[in-house]
Amino acid sequence: MSTAIYSHPDCQRHEMGDWHPESPARLQAIADQLINSHIHDLLEHREAPLAQLSDIERNHSRNAIGIVRDNVPAAGEYYPIDGDTSLNAHSWQAALRAAGAAVAATDAVIDGEIANAFCAIRPPGHHARPGEPMGFCMFNNVAIAAKHALDVRGLKRVAIVDFDVHHGNGTEEALLDEPRALMVSFYQHPFYPYTPPIPDTPNRVNVPVPGGSKGDVVRQLVADKWLPALHAFKPEMIFISAGFDAHREDDIGGMGLVEADYAWLTAQVMAVASQYAQGRIVSCLEGGYNLSALGRSVVAHVKVLAEL
Ligand SMILES: [Zn+2]
Repeated sequence: MSTAIYSHPDCQRHEMGDWHPESPARLQAIADQLINSHIHDLLEHREAPLAQLSDIERNHSRNAIGIVRDNVPAAGEYYPIDGDTSLNAHSWQAALRAAGAAVAATDAVIDGEIANAFCAIRPPGHHARPGEPMGFCMFNNVAIAAKHALDVRGLKRVAIVDFDVHHGNGTEEALLDEPRALMVSFYQHPFYPYTPPIPDTPNRVNVPVPGGSKGDVVRQLVADKWLPALHAFKPEMIFISAGFDAHREDDIGGMGLVEADYAWLTAQVMAVASQYAQGRIVSCLEGGYNLSALGRSVVAHVKVLAEL
């Protein structure tokens, strides 16, 4: 079985201004590096469908959906949601494709059509709160897919692994009262979105780390904190919030990971997934703003997913 890449041209039509780091060029950089590294043809490329409204409603209030759907501006204009998040004429469509990719990939993995999947999508999702979009994010693609796996596909336990440099506050909020989901993450602290750290529980191991931390710090905390929690929880499927902005070349984040660290992280998740979850993994792009480092890191991540 193969690894699938889910994407759609609509995800490149959403943009928030030429100055904005969360740009369509990110997906082009990923596509280019998959070709340059000679792995493009070894992967299965699938078009992301539009999410159903019922998929989004599993994680977001009517009000949160309305903020995106009802404010789409005319071509060439922007509608501001917060200081660094805005809509253009294509944003609603792109947001539905992003969430639709995550849900479709979840179905395809559970149905055994593919081994696992990487969703090359934008807008990203892990800051999107149940009640409002924020921080470059419209809808929480990973939380929507996780709830689909639980509530529609009947899985009993799912884990979410978030290695973006920023705290996945939207995902944490979405799953606070969900005993069927475990979230593990690290994130630079103090840093955007400045949510105060909350204590670890059996279902939530979100570890703040100081700026400047490199791969050795992250690998140690994965071994000490993530892996025991994952082995205790025994997830039936794993979702990855795959942000690559903790890379040392990424100027938005202030950490020092390199491609080899992303490969190592992915291998740890693969090992847990093969032990408890029949290898089921759906990984969704979050951050990552240095175009070269982003493309190279996604190649390192996907190579491990695809066992290439
Ligand atoms: Zn980020």
